[in-house]
Amino acid sequence: MASKDFYGVLGVPRNASADEIKKAYRKLAMQYHPDRNPGDKAAEAQFKLINEAYEVLGDPQKRQLYDSGGGSGFFEGFDGGFARGGTNFGDVFSEVINEFFGGGSSGGRQQGEHILRQVELSFEEAALGKEISIKLARWETCSPCSGNGSKNGKSVTVCSSCRGTGFVRIQQGFFHVQKTCGTCGGEGRVITEICPNCSGKGRISVDRTITRSIPAGVQTGMRVRIAGEGHAGIGGGPPGDLYLDVVVRPHSVFTREGDDLVVDRNLTLTQAIFGTTLEIPTLGAPYPMKVDPGTQPGTVRRVRGKGIANPQSRSLGDLVVRFNVEIPTRLSREQREVLERYAEVSGEAPAGQAGGDGGLFSKVKSIFE
Ligand SMILES: [Zn+2]
Ligand SMILES: [Zn+2]
Repeated sequence: MASKDFYGVLGVPRNASADEIKKAYRKLAMQYHPDRNPGDKAAEAQFKLINEAYEVLGDPQKRQLYDSGGGSGFFEGFDGGFARGGTNFGDVFSEVINEFFGGGSSGGRQQGEHILRQVELSFEEAALGKEISIKLARWETCSPCSGNGSKNGKSVTVCSSCRGTGFVRIQQGFFHVQKTCGTCGGEGRVITEICPNCSGKGRISVDRTITRSIPAGVQTGMRVRIAGEGHAGIGGGPPGDLYLDVVVRPHSVFTREGDDLVVDRNLTLTQAIFGTTLEIPTLGAPYPMKVDPGTQPGTVRRVRGKGIANPQSRSLGDLVVRFNVEIPTRLSREQREVLERYAEVSGEAPAGQAGGDGGLFSKVKSIFE
């Protein structure tokens, strides 16, 4: 199953100490706690995710297991970018989290948080592509205040402590040091009347349904990136992204090896001996395949370009048919007689008798006759 990036969720590096993880968890859990965000579904979802992450990373044994499991999918960029492994979700996410919660020294523009979701697809849906709708609660920019948190977006005055610069100069020993203004948090302005719609947060939780096409050929462990569909940014910052972790359900007939579509087919004894024509199921119309007389168990046939699309290169894999020959385990009397006669004319030992070497058996037999 695709693993979520728990390190990213908690905003800690993969080599973070247990203490750092605990600290990050506490900070985030407090921030997103339902008591502090009543009725805010986006905060609730984030709170759940944070707890899920801490349940694993906060437990040394579970963390070790998680670490060995990887979490190394790759991203499909609907905005055109496509990265394999290299684009580290964790880093992006932790950057945002750190910027968001780590003291707010920059003030103003901040990118919105990313949203992580799991999507489950059938084998065919994953192979052929599928338009999916995802319901999610996310923060969007509050429209009455345009995101600045003040009533009507206008009840803002220039901060008198820093005269709008966002910085104050203080004396420290011999030096003058520039520090972020404590009155306005570095924003340079102070809200005189808070926006009643968002309680001054600038964002409100909105239920959305996002409809997108998942590209053909995705498989379990891949991560699809939908740019700009995460939480809204703060102070005019860009929105976060929506990431979809793909999980593909197994199929009763098909398996997948790379981009090849693999079908296992059993041949009866006579089909293998005399040859036949079979309809092989594919992702489209069944493929009529001529089976040669004398086909051996384990024979593999390959049909070019009838497999699965590669989501990166768009090239098609092959249809691979693996033949097995079914040896009957129960025989009617008539079948048995026919096969015994077959063994006899082939110079083999009759059924039930020892003697693998048919030639020798017939020689011995001829002596006694
Ligand atoms: Zn100020
Ligand atoms: Zn507002």
